[in-house]
Amino acid sequence: MVASHTWHPGTGRIASRWPVPVPLEADELLSTWLVRVALSQGCDPLALTGELWPKWRVWTLDLDRGVATERLRILERMSGIDMSALDAASLRTIAMAIGTAVPGDVAVVPWILALGSRNRQRHGGLQYCPQCFGTDKSPFYRLQWRLAWHNCCHVHSAALLDRCCHCAAPVEPHRLSPPTGLLNVCSSCGYDLRACHAMAADAGAMAFQITADDVVSCGYGKYGEFTLATTEWFLLSRYFLMLLRVAIRNSSSNLASCLVMLGADIPGMRPSLTGLGFELLPVGERAVFLAGTGKLLAAGPKRLLETAQALSLSSATLRQCLSNLPVHIRDIVDALPKQSRSRKSNSKTAEIAPLPRQTVTRIWARLQRKMRRIS
Ligand SMILES: [Zn+2]
Ligand SMILES: [Zn+2]
Repeated sequence: MVASHTWHPGTGRIASRWPVPVPLEADELLSTWLVRVALSQGCDPLALTGELWPKWRVWTLDLDRGVATERLRILERMSGIDMSALDAASLRTIAMAIGTAVPGDVAVVPWILALGSRNRQRHGGLQYCPQCFGTDKSPFYRLQWRLAWHNCCHVHSAALLDRCCHCAAPVEPHRLSPPTGLLNVCSSCGYDLRACHAMAADAGAMAFQITADDVVSCGYGKYGEFTLATTEWFLLSRYFLMLLRVAIRNSSSNLASCLVMLGADIPGMRPSLTGLGFELLPVGERAVFLAGTGKLLAAGPKRLLETAQALSLSSATLRQCLSNLPVHIRDIVDALPKQSRSRKSNSKTAEIAPLPRQTVTRIWARLQRKMRRIS
């Protein structure tokens, strides 16, 4: 399988002021390229950035959220790489495309894996594919390995890893120092990460990943017959992620039954062990939620409305106290009663009589007209 998307093309040969020029590889992540630059000069990453930007504690921050123009200019001068190419190796452009502002002082930004930094130590936020490292001339981290919807490598059809398989520490390439010269080494124990074994990718999670990449590159996504702007599609996906997490906490609820009927494997999902936000979850836990979200998106708005009606869900159940609902969800919520109709049993979803087909068709036709006016 080939990569579905290239985030940036990298650079060819460069005229650098550093003794060893280090071109940017295609899709390489900015901060880890800087580590590669430092190690290639036989220097500690901290020393290199101290020379570049004195008084800026780069490694306590999330450099990949974007670098200010004046600092990028310094990097351009030293590296011989155009500022626009350096900026394209950060997450800034993608974050803007999906409608996520990325101020440096906010700990968790939607859809960007959180580093959980404490001084120079990190608790996560970066993934890798051992097989990609194995085929790289000089192993490098990819930009997309910081995105929360990325959980597998579609080149190798393998799940990504976010820890060293030998010592279980999160990968922290910025803590490597000479004589280590390559990035495929665990900074905590020195293990060669190329030797780690990756599980096969989850098909559902990979399908979601490919769709989400396409939505970023095309500028729009689909929900049923509706076309959504990229920002709206990611807002909708995030809404479904939230619904799944609510449903998993109470797997016998009407909401859980509704999501099961739409294709989500609620019984197969477990509540997060840590209860952390989505961007802080380990890669395996995220994959389960992403696969479920893909199912809910694929079911489309008409089936969501029909199923919610059939199970007598109230508007409050789908609203979940959110003030900023995705536009198509808002219309479905408005079509639901404020109070749930009483039911004899929560668990026997197969026995629930749906609303008469004519009633659902009428409601759906009304909603379609309304949605078309909005979209
Ligand atoms: Zn790979
Ligand atoms: Zn290790």
